[in-house]
Amino acid sequence: MKISPKVREFLCLTAHPQGCRKNVEDQITYVKKHSGVENGPKKVLVIGSSTGYGLASRITAAFGCGADTLGVMFERPAAGKRTATAGWYNTAAFEQAAAREGLYAKTVNADAFSREVKDQVIQLIKKDFGKVDAVIYSLAAPRRTTEDGTVYQSVLKTTGEDFTNKNLNLKDNTISEKTIEAATEEEVKATVKVMGGEDWKAWIQALTDADAIEKGAVTFAYSYIGPKLTYPIYFEGTIGAAKKHLHKTAGEINEEFSKDGIKAYISVNKGLVTQASSAIPIVPLYMAVLYRVMKEKGLHEGCIEQIVRLFSEKAVFGQAKTDEQGLIRLDDWELRPEVQEEVERRWEKVCTENVQEYSDIDGYWDDFYQMFGFRMDGVDYEEDLDPSVDIPSISGQE
Ligand code: NAD
Repeated sequence: MKISPKVREFLCLTAHPQGCRKNVEDQITYVKKHSGVENGPKKVLVIGSSTGYGLASRITAAFGCGADTLGVMFERPAAGKRTATAGWYNTAAFEQAAAREGLYAKTVNADAFSREVKDQVIQLIKKDFGKVDAVIYSLAAPRRTTEDGTVYQSVLKTTGEDFTNKNLNLKDNTISEKTIEAATEEEVKATVKVMGGEDWKAWIQALTDADAIEKGAVTFAYSYIGPKLTYPIYFEGTIGAAKKHLHKTAGEINEEFSKDGIKAYISVNKGLVTQASSAIPIVPLYMAVLYRVMKEKGLHEGCIEQIVRLFSEKAVFGQAKTDEQGLIRLDDWELRPEVQEEVERRWEKVCTENVQEYSDIDGYWDDFYQMFGFRMDGVDYEEDLDPSVDIPSISGQE
């Protein structure tokens, strides 16, 4: 069948297998051209490996460091005429490319928060790897079910008082004011449960208990801080509360697992269009303006450029470059004063009539469609395709 995009605001209900493959291949080509990783990891577990920053991390580990990788994701295969999710197609393409180069790659498709899945992954590690030497935690999830069956739902709200600012209406590219309600205390707590550091630490604990992680291993979790402009919805919002908890957890892991030689790092990454970030109100308009300013200044990066810079310049395996709070700052270019001053100037002026002039709205949408395998150069979108694509290694709970 011919596969076309079906966009509903910040979601695309379809994905294109060939377009996703092209997206993965382009990222592999970029890594091969640019990475110069010294002492890179060789046996890497990526939790949240199928899209966005996690996929870029898996690709960089494999094709920049020659690492064997085990991925954990929560994706859906095709069923009848319904396409698979983009993460499914990305993973199929990744595994095929890895196999061509003799790199081990297996993927578990199941809920990373659960104890059973941790055990299943550990069994695979023990059977195939022995031990992992790097763990990348790149989950972005809307909910989490804990061991006792409680379901926690994360929300994207501000804290304290309601917050009103400009917002891009994703249905028609108009700009209007949007008020974000303040979260209740319960909602803040639930978001911290889902997106904070508890599960990251549980993974490190489980791996250590099972003797499935090397002495001297590193673990990274990804965070975002952003500029003051987005503080009320991001860093001082519910998601920011979760990220602060994640930052605190890095310190706890470093303390509690120092005897095991494990080093935990937070990498504060750049704001980019991903499936997770496009759902946050106000942020898409900020990103469209930011993209324009960073592209004009020759500073724009996507997920793969960010992660290659993390692996080759910032993580420097064994001795990471951090700020005074111990954070790796991949958002250094985004937060340059000259970038943020220009973003603020444009933010003041941007409205429906001039959105093309003041922001990179087209770049925003290109990135959005490309996440689902659409608008990729060199892909024939008229082609009749079978949406069903196998991932030979897949295991999980599906
Ligand atoms: P994404 O939506 O592209 O990726 C999320 C990944 O998590 C996917 O692989 C998905 O399959 C997996 N996943 C979700 N729920 C799961 C579950 N229950 N079990 C197993 N896997 C599950 O998101 P992203 O934007 O790449 O975010 C990854 C991390 O990077 C997040 O911590 C996010 O806060 C952080 N980050 C994102 C940005 C940004 O602008 N996108 C910036 C800085 C930091």
